[in-house]
Amino acid sequence: MQEDLFKRLVSHCKEYGFIYPSSEVYDGLGGVYDYGPMGAELKNNIKEYWWKAMVQMHENIVGLDSAIFMHPKIWKASGHVDAFNDPLVDNKDSKKRYRADQLIEGEVDKIEGKLEKEVEKARKKFGESFDEALYRQTNTRVVEYAEKARTIEMRLAEAMKANDMAGLKNLIDELEIADPDSGSRNWTEVRQFNLMFSTQMSNIAGEDGKLYLRPETAQGIFVNFSNVQKTTRQKIPFGIAQIGKAFRNEIVARQFIFRMREFEQMEMQYFIRPGSEDQWYEYWKAKRIAWHKAVSPAAKLRFKDHDNLAHYAKAAVDIQFEFPFGFKELEGIHSRSDFDLRSHQELSGKKIQYFDPEINESYVPYVVETSVGCDRMFLAILTNSLIEEQVPDAQGEDSTRTVLSLPHALAPIKCAILPLLKNKDELTDKAREVYERLRFHFQCQYDEKDAIGRRYRRQDAIGTPYCVTIDFETLEDNTVTLRDRDSMLQQRVHIDQLAAIVTEKTDMRKLLERIYQE
Ligand code: ATP
Repeated sequence: MQEDLFKRLVSHCKEYGFIYPSSEVYDGLGGVYDYGPMGAELKNNIKEYWWKAMVQMHENIVGLDSAIFMHPKIWKASGHVDAFNDPLVDNKDSKKRYRADQLIEGEVDKIEGKLEKEVEKARKKFGESFDEALYRQTNTRVVEYAEKARTIEMRLAEAMKANDMAGLKNLIDELEIADPDSGSRNWTEVRQFNLMFSTQMSNIAGEDGKLYLRPETAQGIFVNFSNVQKTTRQKIPFGIAQIGKAFRNEIVARQFIFRMREFEQMEMQYFIRPGSEDQWYEYWKAKRIAWHKAVSPAAKLRFKDHDNLAHYAKAAVDIQFEFPFGFKELEGIHSRSDFDLRSHQELSGKKIQYFDPEINESYVPYVVETSVGCDRMFLAILTNSLIEEQVPDAQGEDSTRTVLSLPHALAPIKCAILPLLKNKDELTDKAREVYERLRFHFQCQYDEKDAIGRRYRRQDAIGTPYCVTIDFETLEDNTVTLRDRDSMLQQRVHIDQLAAIVTEKTDMRKLLERIYQE
């Protein structure tokens, strides 16, 4: 684990106003975080990137903003009341709580780590002539590790599928898994734990008033399928996209914003004709990975098929990202068959169908879903962007610069406007004038505090792609220096050109175009 990067990232988020622990004055609330001024901007930009790529760029995808509170029967029909569980295990000595499946997956990660070490050793030993594929197939130790990891994965998947809690406990005992914190192997039995939060609402006819905070946004889309289809007159295939909060009472929420108890999802349900699901599943896999590749290096992304399919899924794959703590799920793509619409049709007694004029038939549509966590996307983007580099300072000496090399369109502030000196009214007045003009075009920040070099560094640290400096020459000819965050090069440009130059470089259009170049 790149612990160092992860620690730096968490403290950078706090220091520069991206993310604060929730309720910090009361010592925090586990698995809940607040987005600060910079974080709110970055998160909004990530959402805009997703929304535009999905809704604006597809004439057959429309948006929705459904309520968090929904009729409790929805969660019965969806299977969440009965099956949205994680296996919980407590360590009797440390009193720490774990997800049994994650403890076992951790063991698999360890074995895979050993395997990769062997491969690396061999690569160094054999140099140029190293045939990696052959080595992986034939080296006894590597083959043993691979088989062991696979066997554990299969046994885990089987036990999860069969809800076999005793089977999970056996695996923990057999593998002699110890509490990562205390080293103790003194475990309780494994038991199911439902992840939904509940609250009360008075006056729900025929119910005891128990409501759930939605654990996913998808169900709001399913129960509105007929409304949206009729009011937009969309023909199948078409999609409904939604961004919104979801809540899960996660057993373990210790990886910053990777696993939270309140988080945000960006989900799209694509309604299709039964029988076409495999084709659309492949289509959406390709589309979604292209969206990620436009903002993350390809080497940090990979597909991982599910061994253990959720109760609704016919096929499922994760897009994993290499976070500082390893490759983990960033997005899920699921072929959900007609499970959800059919369940709602059955439990509500209302027809949820589509008449397909092309084949003259009514049916319950099938669904392919794409579901990405906004917060995990935020963490992925920061992981890619936080860089420390050595650059010469004003005296030509080496100094460390921290820069957040965010894709321009995602940067919280697009352009900072900086008077060279603070105590010269003619400079600050002129700088204010430039700020007043540019703020109509994009998010700007005016800053006059501290020496210019320090202000540049502050803007680098929050990822601002451009800094405009107003100096004495500006007063004579209306030109300013425009500094580029990544190259640190400065060019002299006329004030009248600023809006066009910065817009051209930072517009969301740029990112959208990159998706289609992938
Ligand atoms: P995991 O296996 O990591 O618990 P999941 O398979 O339960 O995730 P899904 O139900 O497929 O996740 O949810 C879709 C997306 O929502 C995930 O890919 C992830 O990006 C995001 N997500 C899910 N749970 C959380 C959480 N607790 N905190 C932040 N994001 C989450």
